[in-house]
Amino acid sequence: MIYLDHAATTPVPREVADAMYAVLTEQYGNPSSQYPLGADMKKQVEGWRKTVAGALGCQPEQLFFTSCGTEGDNWAVTAACWQNRHLGRHIVTTAVEHSAVLEACKWMGQQGYEVTYLAPDGNGNITAEQVLAAVRPDTALVSVMFVNNETGNVYPIADIARGLAAKNPKTLLHTDAVQGFLKVPFTARTLGADFITISGHKIGGPKGVGGLYIGPRVRNPRPLLAGGGQEKGLRSGTEATAQIAGFARAVELRMDGLDDKLTHMAHMKAYAKEKLAAIPDLRFIGDGTAPHILAVSLVGWPSQNIVNDLGSQGICISAGSACHQGKPSHVVAALKLPKKAAGGVIRLSFGPETTEADIDACAEALKKHHDTRMPML
Ligand code: PLP
Repeated sequence: MIYLDHAATTPVPREVADAMYAVLTEQYGNPSSQYPLGADMKKQVEGWRKTVAGALGCQPEQLFFTSCGTEGDNWAVTAACWQNRHLGRHIVTTAVEHSAVLEACKWMGQQGYEVTYLAPDGNGNITAEQVLAAVRPDTALVSVMFVNNETGNVYPIADIARGLAAKNPKTLLHTDAVQGFLKVPFTARTLGADFITISGHKIGGPKGVGGLYIGPRVRNPRPLLAGGGQEKGLRSGTEATAQIAGFARAVELRMDGLDDKLTHMAHMKAYAKEKLAAIPDLRFIGDGTAPHILAVSLVGWPSQNIVNDLGSQGICISAGSACHQGKPSHVVAALKLPKKAAGGVIRLSFGPETTEADIDACAEALKKHHDTRMPML
């Protein structure tokens, strides 16, 4: 199998699975239990928090474990609106956010919030000036992702944070950094956001665990889940100890030689661009500078057919995270591409394990698809 869909999810290294197995079978105590099996686990969870917080460049107390990136996004949007409920009921976000942010904003819309969705330009760019121009005195929250999951475009979060501090210091800033964490270097300090969402399964960790950084300007963040008071009362639910152990181990493994891994991914992307450029009717989409995501369109050939054809040959690529029944995803739609280009958008995404041979095989299969299938769009 050739796996070129690392932005969807990533393989879990043996060491990560082993760390999880040990927790599941031997160290299975509940961190809230008083006897040593529980107390030891509580200590271990704090160690794992330190590891993940270290990679995020924040204090361990500022990182809360969640069940996934989706939960972190939902929590950040609702907590920011709650804190600023007396400031106003306006949210600024973008049309290209992950559905976890878009749907959470939609909820807030149903509760009387006005949501401004900023459109990218044709290359997927959104500027800090554009975001700041949309901010009003009653803007409770700005939520702009760090790296777009379909195009790899990187958004200027640090500039937005600086501009917000000058224009409307009470407005809280959330960034969904699920695709940026350990892919595009940053720390909580350099980004300057009040909330930062991350997820385990995009970096070699298990599915079902994530984290939310909550910065010092957030006072008494409102929990999303009420219950037994875990995570300092802010995220109830018995800690998913095995997932957290796996997340931390995956972070350690990624951090080991991270620069080389990022250089490798960037090289894979450059190599893929070179190979794919030779395919007729292929066009590059977006200005993605993230090292692991490459969006292209085989203009005229429906993306779902390409994904199915390559999938049947054991080559895993994506047609965009929300491609349903031949309709382009909301991200592709926001780029306002000509219909034939929009219909053919596919995403290749790379990891430290990707090889040139993987890309050669994918390029060959794409060329064959182009040469042997009729364009339908
Ligand atoms: N945000 C972005 C940008 C993503 O790419 C994803 C996953 O695809 C998510 C959020 C959701 O993360 P999770 O799958 O952990 O809920």
